[in-house]
Amino acid sequence: MALYLPKLKYELDALEPFLSQRTMNFHYNKHLQTYINTTNTLTKDTDFAYKTAREMLLTAVGPIFNNAAQAFNHEFFFNCLCPKDKTSLISANLSTYINESFGSFEKFKEDFIQAAVSNFGSGWTWLVQNPTTNKLEIVNTQNAGNPITQGLQVLLCVDVWEHAYYLDYQNLRKDYVTAFFDYIDWKFVESNLLVKA
Ligand code: MN
Repeated sequence: MALYLPKLKYELDALEPFLSQRTMNFHYNKHLQTYINTTNTLTKDTDFAYKTAREMLLTAVGPIFNNAAQAFNHEFFFNCLCPKDKTSLISANLSTYINESFGSFEKFKEDFIQAAVSNFGSGWTWLVQNPTTNKLEIVNTQNAGNPITQGLQVLLCVDVWEHAYYLDYQNLRKDYVTAFFDYIDWKFVESNLLVKA
């Protein structure tokens, strides 16, 4: 069992004008495929060969961590997105979490965009649920980092590596992350919430 390129739930041009087909083609068919191929090459005939990308990123270090985590992060990111006309309202349940954690949706959005803009270099900005407090938090990770290695439940992420937006936005990361908010699959975000015991 090796990692394989996950099927997208939308066409490569379905996120325009937020992300062009050209950006999505490079991002999905080139960047993500390369992370998957490299992971498979690195893990061939090792104990990691039969693990999922999630299991690999929780236990591996170095190049296997980097490539497996990028495979996981990209599949998760692409699942966070949907065409603008397919987005749904945020449910009352998720709204309650957001309001109790940030005060309001607008404050959450402002803080998330600010975190993404200030995430220096290449990395990811995440909305997570802290299982200890049950509150939602915004977390930046660098390079291939993923908050699940810190015991946090990931709900939403945006890729702030330049390859994610440079063809469409050049250096204007804030415009990219602001537009991102109109293409979020909130049903997917909610599906990642830990259910209270
Ligand atoms: Mn990327």
